[in-house]
Amino acid sequence: MVTSPFDLTGKVAIITGGNGGIGLGMARGLAKAGAAIVIAGRSDAKSKAAVAEIEKLGAKALAIVVDVTDKAAVEKMVATTETKFGRLDILINNAGINIRNPVQTLALDDWRSVIDTNLTSAFLCAQAAYPAMKKQGRGKIINTGSMMSIFATAYAPAYAASKGGIVQLTKALAASWATDNIQANAILPGWIDTDMTRKAREQVDALHDSVLARTPAKRWGHIDDLAGTAVFLSSSASDFVTGTAIPVDGGYSVQG
Ligand code: NDP
Repeated sequence: MVTSPFDLTGKVAIITGGNGGIGLGMARGLAKAGAAIVIAGRSDAKSKAAVAEIEKLGAKALAIVVDVTDKAAVEKMVATTETKFGRLDILINNAGINIRNPVQTLALDDWRSVIDTNLTSAFLCAQAAYPAMKKQGRGKIINTGSMMSIFATAYAPAYAASKGGIVQLTKALAASWATDNIQANAILPGWIDTDMTRKAREQVDALHDSVLARTPAKRWGHIDDLAGTAVFLSSSASDFVTGTAIPVDGGYSVQG
């Protein structure tokens, strides 16, 4: 039988922030490609609802309540995954928040909260996942960046710093673990319709229309738009791809 290079049958994936938005879109894609899915988020109710949705697609799934800024909780998340499924092949660091305030008024606690949730969490999760991946002789790490990995705005300095940092962390992971056959890549979503960007549209004047005007595809992204790239970067099809940051943005980043 010929196996597709995108087949994820028998693979186990942790997706932080997988209980909604972009994380759920990627989780659905990986589940359809055959992976068992661990949905990791703070809200038990949201995570259990996501698990029910994934199971309807025919995949195995498990909800784990975790705050990704908590090192001990992240280590427990990986241990629970190995106990339940016996392995860990794919880690998607996707949990994220944004607190919109310009530099001159952004509180230090808010700065730290965004950096801890969006950037330090990826370091903690990758560090916790490494022993399992090294033992298996292969692994895939995907970090969720942003258009603010490339550009910045005045209203989200901590978010831009965290998303710039995630691209550099991705390169560091790629360089560190290439000889362990662990590939690390980032996905840079354009403007995707989620809870996070619904809030942004309430807080930032004319955001909806300015995104449409700037995006060559002339639409906001849907969470399922992220699925294909996530499957590619999770599968053997990307075994010689590491340290990259792939925009999935309807062309937003190429049009001035
Ligand atoms: P959502 O608000 O829908 O999702 C955020 C997810 O992160 C939720 O599942 C939430 O779960 C989880 N989360 C937040 N904080 C923590 C924490 N401390 N511990 C564990 N989980 C946490 O937003 P999006 O889907 O839009 O965002 C997902 C990722 O995509 C983020 O990294 C975001 O920065 C990025 N992104 C989004 C873009 C967009 O246009 N939407 C564009 C570019 C990047 P829970 O509430 O259960 O904790």
